[in-house]
Amino acid sequence: MRFLSTRARGGAAARSVSFRTALFEGLAPDGGLYMPETIERWPESDLVALPSRSVVETAVAALRPYVGDELPASKLYAVLDDALNFPIPLVEIEPGLFALELFHGPTLAFKDVGARVLARMLPALGAPDAANVLTVLVATSGDTGGAVGHACHGVPGVRVVILYPDRRISPTQEAQLTCFNGSPGANVRAYAVDGTFDDCQRLVKTAFADQCLRERAGLTSANSINIGRLIPQTTYYFHAAGLLAARGYERAYFSTPSGNFGNLTAGVMAQRAGAPIAGFVAATNVNDVVPSYLATGVFTPRPSIPTIANAMDCGNPSNFDRLLWLYGDSADAMRADISGSAHTDDEVRGAIRWMDEARGYLLDPHSAIAYLGIAGRERREGQERHDRRGPGSREDVRRRDRTARVFLATAHPAKFAEVVEPVIGRRLEPPAPLAAALAQPRTVFRIGATPAALAAVLDEP
Ligand SMILES: *Cc1c(COP(=O)(O)O)cnc(C)c1O
Repeated sequence: MRFLSTRARGGAAARSVSFRTALFEGLAPDGGLYMPETIERWPESDLVALPSRSVVETAVAALRPYVGDELPASKLYAVLDDALNFPIPLVEIEPGLFALELFHGPTLAFKDVGARVLARMLPALGAPDAANVLTVLVATSGDTGGAVGHACHGVPGVRVVILYPDRRISPTQEAQLTCFNGSPGANVRAYAVDGTFDDCQRLVKTAFADQCLRERAGLTSANSINIGRLIPQTTYYFHAAGLLAARGYERAYFSTPSGNFGNLTAGVMAQRAGAPIAGFVAATNVNDVVPSYLATGVFTPRPSIPTIANAMDCGNPSNFDRLLWLYGDSADAMRADISGSAHTDDEVRGAIRWMDEARGYLLDPHSAIAYLGIAGRERREGQERHDRRGPGSREDVRRRDRTARVFLATAHPAKFAEVVEPVIGRRLEPPAPLAAALAQPRTVFRIGATPAALAAVLDEP
């Protein structure tokens, strides 16, 4: 498969690159984001077979069209089998409502899926120059850095530099991010930037725009600007569809808690490839630039506002360009598939409390936003039925009964214990990987929010 930059629209002479180049470059040289030239629809026989497929088998089917002949089948399988070594369960909360738990990987958040595949894909595709180490540069609002650091730790030929906003991430996230800082010679280092997440992201973009630095340091990106993160994430939309089909559902609405909108973009790509998805809810915290766009047709990036769902504190979502690309710049086309839903910290705490008390299910703040998104959608539909005075035709009712509602549970509640514990009034036991990270002494490296400070870090041997 060839990949094009989102900035290279329509031009007959647009430069296209291979899967490998798209992954190694991360960001296209023109500053755009790579997208596949086409999204191939799965053969019907593969869709029908979903209920009997493992996560790894589904991942192979999802990635194969994009990878093409750039990796032999056995190598693709090995990469995915090694990367996706944790379950992705679908938990029924009430009839027709499901949580898709994406947080059973080593850093307890969904980013493990894309990051672990990408980290193994890079060496499998072959480093650009065997003599040079590849530097994965990531900006993180908390979760990405941990996922990428863990995914790449010990992977030969790869070095990781993580930038996170100083004092604006949770203690747990900081423990997970900095856990390799204390070991000299480790290939993963995290730096606390004196600024916001947006500052971190800007620094990364500036470094990528500096062609000299980029080549010198062998820079690549593992943020969701790298299409190599998004393509693996299409897997779990198909996987969920298979699990739902086994329970008699024909399609589902997905509510995706969104920050940079990589997860939602992956969902739309899965839908285009044939996953039976009726529509999406773009659920956000008060950083609601995409819900506002859906309401008004105007996209207005803003500085991000800190919230308790901080992995979604994003005022200028980097994947919005990909959504525009997928919907041909049409707000109406996007609205036909995606509805927006934005939620305050108080609503999030309320949802965590209600879900714990009424359903005995624990939500982290991000998953709570996804739940609020799908619950809001359900309420709006109910209201519409009420206004029409009736449940609709028999076919409408049948369709509704065969349509599931799924919210993506993107982080383990214990990862955000400082938010969840006061709300539910009891302590949470950290799962083993988290307990280990928390027990380590903290080593923090601080840098200023300037390109020069970052260049100095990147030029270190
Ligand atoms: C990163 C993250 C999100 C947002 O995902 P995007 O792909 O950036 O929209 C949601 N929840 C959690 C827990 C995250 O870490």
